[in-house]
Amino acid sequence: MTEEECFKKVINIKYPEGFVCPRCRSNAYWVKPGRRIIICRSCRKEISPLSGSMFSRSHLPLNLWFNIVEMMTNSPDRVITAKTIFKELGLGSYRTAWEALNKIRFVISHNEPRIKLKGHIEFDEMVINGIGSEYNKVSILGALEIEGKKRLTLQMIKNPDEMNIKDYLKKKIDKKATVITDPDKLYIHNWLVLNRIKQKSSVKHYGANFMSIHIILQDVRYGLRNGHHSVSEKYLQRNLDEYVFTFNNNDDRTKAYEKVLNYMVNTKLTAYRSAEIPKRSFLSIIAGE
Ligand SMILES: [Zn+2]
Repeated sequence: MTEEECFKKVINIKYPEGFVCPRCRSNAYWVKPGRRIIICRSCRKEISPLSGSMFSRSHLPLNLWFNIVEMMTNSPDRVITAKTIFKELGLGSYRTAWEALNKIRFVISHNEPRIKLKGHIEFDEMVINGIGSEYNKVSILGALEIEGKKRLTLQMIKNPDEMNIKDYLKKKIDKKATVITDPDKLYIHNWLVLNRIKQKSSVKHYGANFMSIHIILQDVRYGLRNGHHSVSEKYLQRNLDEYVFTFNNNDDRTKAYEKVLNYMVNTKLTAYRSAEIPKRSFLSIIAGE
């Protein structure tokens, strides 16, 4: 897509019911070439459809953002790496690729609805080595619907203990669900009993195409080892959210692409700013310096 086509797409996302001039209510406008503004044909007011959005104050061209989103939603891998973006899109620096990718991950994390899994659910936990410290262990909790929509959730937890694992189960698992988990984890068993949630200890009867939460967690670990070597605790959850997003939206990748662009246009830059505590100035981060 050309820069102009991307800008037109942003306008369509921004005004799904069609453009209305905030000053005179007119519907007709011109696009000012080379500048990211539109001009009302009736009263000549200049409007910036990108103002305040995740695209504003970015020095990167729109089509670069669009290309990254396309790569992300079409990749056979659940999580793409900044290295891949840097190489394939011929960016000026690795840092630029990393910052852009992280920003897109933020809008996904920020906007994707939090779901509660239903039906038969598999639950597992995996300790991640190399993140956190000896005294500050990091674990990933995963739950997967093994029937129907087969939706997934992944959550990073620091210092996993009974309390925060139970908290995760409470947030992610519907009370009418049946949970399949490691029978050795007695506290999970007890919690499920206490909450009158049905449980099973085997998944054997689900056949060859069965996608186990265990396999998914291994895949996440593999991804973290290959290309995400420097992922910190802070950014791990965003990695997981990207994984979950591409997994849960795998049946319609065009829709997933449109969804992310929609999030980009409609998420306020201020939300990102308050989520980040940059050591350098925010502008230098956006510019990828
Ligand atoms: Zn007007």
